[in-house]
Amino acid sequence: MKNIYLDASATTPPHKDVVKKIRDIQLECWANPSSIHHFGVIAREILERSRLSIANKLRAESDQVFFTSGATESNYLAIKCVANNIDKGRIIITSVEHPSINLIANQLLNEGWDIKYWPVDHQGIIDLDLMDQMLSPPTKLVSMIWGQSEIGSIQPINLIGMECKRRNILFHTDATQVLPNGLIDWSNLCVDMLSASAHKLQGPKGIGLLMLREGINDLLMNNPSYGFKNGSIRSGTDSVPLIAGFSTAIDLLNEYIEIKGNQTLFPENNVSKMTLQLKTNLFNNNNLTFIGPHRERLPNNLSFLCHTESMIPIKGRQIVRLLSKHGVYVSSGSACSSSSHGPSPTLVAINVDKALQESGLRITIGPWISNDDINSVSNIIYESLQSLEHKKQ
Ligand code: PMP
Repeated sequence: MKNIYLDASATTPPHKDVVKKIRDIQLECWANPSSIHHFGVIAREILERSRLSIANKLRAESDQVFFTSGATESNYLAIKCVANNIDKGRIIITSVEHPSINLIANQLLNEGWDIKYWPVDHQGIIDLDLMDQMLSPPTKLVSMIWGQSEIGSIQPINLIGMECKRRNILFHTDATQVLPNGLIDWSNLCVDMLSASAHKLQGPKGIGLLMLREGINDLLMNNPSYGFKNGSIRSGTDSVPLIAGFSTAIDLLNEYIEIKGNQTLFPENNVSKMTLQLKTNLFNNNNLTFIGPHRERLPNNLSFLCHTESMIPIKGRQIVRLLSKHGVYVSSGSACSSSSHGPSPTLVAINVDKALQESGLRITIGPWISNDDINSVSNIIYESLQSLEHKKQ
């Protein structure tokens, strides 16, 4: 049985070049980059070269690139720690954020902030008619997921970013699921803060990115992990091997995402073509209903509701376990919410019928997949759903 891993949005297998880079740096440049002796200077050089390389690839300045332990920490720094340093008011997030953002929003609510959720339509896209209502005073900060991890919807972040800038509102975007699909051009992005994570693009786990516009790092000075390291927004010894591995993972991305008006245009590549092929193969399957946007969506993401032909819901977790027995690894939602029982908050937000709110199936593809895998997977999914269909009859 061949293993076919289709859960790229949860995490990705590290690329062999990334593993080699981490191993080499771990063995040769293990010193503390804050030490001023020879070994420390070498480690510092690797760290700063990696930062510069990432900044160049993302068309940013190196002093705009900060390393964290992952997107969860980046989100925390960008929202919670910034909120701690500005006057209280209103914070806007969408109703389809990653759980890490919802958790921060709840904490801030308890601390006296007004938190409002920007509603989305049935495709998971924010309602632009609410722009004035959401962005009028006392809104101080907006955080908006750029590419939604469960249903693949894309928000018009540059449009919102420009409007926030005009109104003097800080704007953060969680780009964790966007970066694996193409390089970000920070110089053309109207965003103050951006979070991303290495392990979603075949990099190592435990290392993330927070990009900050000039001056915003001053707002992060009093965060709980800020301490004694000059010029850094967090203390602790930097992991030079993981940072170098992150840089290698970004080097493996070659094409840029384009932003035209409200649209995010992803590069067409093997992954997007295979995703489209799988969508075509599965589209007419009577056990699946395609959800999320048809066109403008994360190019590596497919999401469905599972049911019998007579629309009796099939639980996403059930089909995930069954497919796993056949060597196909998918997800019933975002990895951080699919481990808990109950309806998916994203499916609730897009107004999926109550009976089907636990029936989500997410397939996310990466460069390790081949065209042959796509054809095998289509058959395995078809047969697995048919077997459940017969059981329910
Ligand atoms: N934001 C989004 C949109 C994500 O998909 C994830 C990972 N599931 C995270 C944040 C958290 O990333 P990390 O694992 O690096 O903390």
